[in-house]
Amino acid sequence: MTTSLLDVAGVKVSPDHYIDGRRVPSATTFELFSPIDQQPLGRIAEGLEDHTEAAIQAAQRAFPAWSALSAAERLPYLERFAEEIGKRADDFCRLESTDAGVLLSRMRHGVVSRAMLNIRWFAQHALELQNRPIDTEQAHHIVRHDPAGVVVIITPWNAPLMLSTWKLGPALAAGNTCVLKPPEWAPLTCSLLADCADAAGLPPGVFNVVQGTGANTGARLVGDARIARVSFTGSVPTARLIAQAAGANLVPCSLELGGKSPFIVLEDADLDGAAATGALMYRNAGQVCLAGTRFLVHEKVAERFIATMRSHVEKLTVGDPRDEATEVGPIIHPRQVDRVEGFVQRAVAAGAELLWGGERHGFGAQYFKPTMLTKVAQDSEIVQNEVFGPVLTLQTFASDEEAIALANGTDYGLGGVCYGETEHATEIAKQVRTGFIWVNSFGIRDLAAPFGGIKRSGVGREGGDWSFEFFCDVKDVVVPKKPFKASFSHR
Ligand code: NAD
Repeated sequence: MTTSLLDVAGVKVSPDHYIDGRRVPSATTFELFSPIDQQPLGRIAEGLEDHTEAAIQAAQRAFPAWSALSAAERLPYLERFAEEIGKRADDFCRLESTDAGVLLSRMRHGVVSRAMLNIRWFAQHALELQNRPIDTEQAHHIVRHDPAGVVVIITPWNAPLMLSTWKLGPALAAGNTCVLKPPEWAPLTCSLLADCADAAGLPPGVFNVVQGTGANTGARLVGDARIARVSFTGSVPTARLIAQAAGANLVPCSLELGGKSPFIVLEDADLDGAAATGALMYRNAGQVCLAGTRFLVHEKVAERFIATMRSHVEKLTVGDPRDEATEVGPIIHPRQVDRVEGFVQRAVAAGAELLWGGERHGFGAQYFKPTMLTKVAQDSEIVQNEVFGPVLTLQTFASDEEAIALANGTDYGLGGVCYGETEHATEIAKQVRTGFIWVNSFGIRDLAAPFGGIKRSGVGREGGDWSFEFFCDVKDVVVPKKPFKASFSHR
């Protein structure tokens, strides 16, 4: 028996798991609250052992038939999946905005279309994966990309729809079957995703959603020896636990983790352009892994840059993310607000100076003012650790060498931004040790390009061929061109 649907922001959404093509309730449930105003949104199913077991078994049962289809045969299913997401676009927007506090404007003008593209693009590109030949004098190599098996996908709350589809798209297109564990603080759009998969006619067991906490539900899934891959996006401490659990079974993990990315402003930068882009770092209340959060500004232009950025920040509208005019919404959870505030207070106590912000915003309990701290030491907590809130730091430098040393001086290495004369900025960008870096821009993403971090920001790359390399078992079928004569001297 399924549980009655929740009504959240006028959207009817199931609180149950989705396993083997059916809705499955749980005897244990947990309450969801909106970060906008702490209103309860309803209770959703917690994944107990029976549910993770049923989901893995369903994915195992579905694997032989789904993996036996060619990419061309899987394409129409995934095209329909993308279409179903498109049909529910408005529901996705309202739901994620209410559940996760993501700006409605961002959902409407980017996230949902990107979620559709995540499914569609990888489905189309999987067609190119089939049998890449390598011809040598001796042999014909048929290099196959075979689906790996059951894939566990674990996603965080800051972009549940985008990040879940970013992993589901290539995993399904390559012929794997999936179990998705959505974030416990914002699971609802993943439940809607299951409705779309169902409406698209994805065979039962190909895509399963088991809700629940990381410590219980997530840990059981990633520690299961029957799975073939774990694709995880989230924090560094969780990644360590996941890598240990999966490592015990030698299950490969892709880990997309946190960041403390530099935002470099060179002496020859377009200061207004840099400052306007700088203000974007407060979007989603700074809960964006790839944001440039450490401003490194040439000392000769620092004063002008600060004044220009201040004028951009003063114009930012903090408020309800459902209002299209809002630019900075709420922080996901009261615990996270306390964490953000703690970082700021400790930094100030250690001698940091506030350029702006530094306290909670009057709009509501989970809102924090866009904040900038300066006079921060490179080895201080605020410079070395990811805050994941609307809190940035600003340091100055006197030479390119110093800028690069500061940029590379943390354990993170996810992204970066570098503003300056294009050739100069490109040269500096090449020397910053990160997985990606934007020159005179921010946030340009292409599904064909690699995405991921180095150092504590992650292990592996997703995107384009890198996703397929991860989600597939690569196999070389070697067919000799001449009759083979067995010999011990043969290599
Ligand atoms: P988190 O690590 O606390 O949780 C992420 C997911 O892992 C959740 O679904 C959670 O339930 C699950 N989880 C927790 N413990 C688990 C366990 N033992 N086994 C299996 N699953 C477990 O992260 P968060 O607070 O939800 O997200 C914020 C973090 O995510 C930040 O550090 C941010 O930088 C990072 N992030 C990175 C990227 C990227 O692409 N690199 C993108 C978005 C967010």
